[in-house]
Amino acid sequence: MSNADLVKRDLSVLWHPCTQMKDHEWLPVIPVRRARGVWLEDFEGKRYLDAISSWWVNLFGHSNPRINLALAEQADTLEHVLLAGFTHEAVIELSERLVEITPPGLERCFYADNGSSAVEVALKMSFHAWLNQGRPGKTRFVTLENSYHGETLGALAVGNVELYKQTYSPLLMETISVPSPDCYRREPGESWHDYSVRRFEDMESTLARHADEICAVIIEPLVQCAGSMRMYDPVYLKLLREACDRHGVHLIADEIAVGFGRTGTLFACEQAGISPDFMCLSKGLTGGYLPLSVVLTRNSIYDCFYDDYRKLTAFLHSHSYTGNALGCRAALATLDIFRDDNVIEANKQLAAAMHETSECFREHPHVGEVRQTGMILAIEMVQDRRSRKPYPWEERRGLKVYQHGLENGVLLRPLGNVIYFMPPYVITPDEIRLLADVAHQGIQVATAG
Ligand code: PMP
Repeated sequence: MSNADLVKRDLSVLWHPCTQMKDHEWLPVIPVRRARGVWLEDFEGKRYLDAISSWWVNLFGHSNPRINLALAEQADTLEHVLLAGFTHEAVIELSERLVEITPPGLERCFYADNGSSAVEVALKMSFHAWLNQGRPGKTRFVTLENSYHGETLGALAVGNVELYKQTYSPLLMETISVPSPDCYRREPGESWHDYSVRRFEDMESTLARHADEICAVIIEPLVQCAGSMRMYDPVYLKLLREACDRHGVHLIADEIAVGFGRTGTLFACEQAGISPDFMCLSKGLTGGYLPLSVVLTRNSIYDCFYDDYRKLTAFLHSHSYTGNALGCRAALATLDIFRDDNVIEANKQLAAAMHETSECFREHPHVGEVRQTGMILAIEMVQDRRSRKPYPWEERRGLKVYQHGLENGVLLRPLGNVIYFMPPYVITPDEIRLLADVAHQGIQVATAG
């Protein structure tokens, strides 16, 4: 079996996600034969360092022996059973542990099978909880500009990345969108904190004006990942929590991308010392093994649905694979690794190594900003460092970095003109240096001429 054979077969039957398939006339898909740790290997033995954790899902390396073992045992015992009317040990234990490790007040777990579905669950639950409390006028959601919450129609509607949303806008519910605290836009000399506080004014006035019709504010805590890894200060979340309480509005924290240690704490909300009313988790939940997601919420919200069947207040939402036993077991093995290996503490050194190697980008004439939150580091490529004039999107400079990366054994997948590192936590400082070197050369190539 060669790369070429597989590519040919692939292109005759597959339609790849988030891809203009015509690009594959000149940009080959890469068939992966196997993967171990941070390394992917193709059918010709060429290796690629997975610097983006395969779309931010992988935490402890590919083919992790501890997760493999847990999965093999689970597969031998129970692979799946419906979660309506039935239950199983893995989902019960996972729920207990999630309640224990997430911010206080999140006491109930509702499962789905991918991030977008978790967002749909949180949106429906928020609306429905208000309805069950006799507040049918609360039907709208507040979102931040540049936010991303997934691709299904409800999740797309509460996101704001134009590239994904614009085409489908006639199909989407209307939302109220508020300027982002994205600190890339702060004034020269202004701190992240001050800019985030200043940006909150728009949120405050929006909530004051529309509270009666708003179900919830949905937000990606600390980092707007798909929105080019734009970052902000935790103070914004603190102010938002207070304002949501004051105005009687739910707070949905979408930690699908930032959860499980990505921002330096187990959950990003911890850095603001807040508990949301709903927390959506997926991606790293299973260590990058299987599609699983969960929405955690408060018992006070759960209680809004709890009544005699004939009152028709139940949350009649389901997915076939809700609470899949293999997914739950992979999640439990992942949580064991966090606990046994003191991962959050160990990651501080990796984050410091990422910071150190990023120095070389800071003075680059075509880098507008290098920003980092925990284990996420982003480099913003621009035409001119001083004016931060962006490159026209049509030039696809990020794609040139991607190609350079592949030629040199590193999988970087820039978001437009933003190159970022979001590696598995088993990466070594040497591998971080390799990654930075290749990214640096890639930026040289992409910005020459
Ligand atoms: N929310 C956020 C913050 C995300 O980053 C993503 C995926 N990139 C999603 C939701 C959607 O998750 P999924 O792709 O599993 O549907």
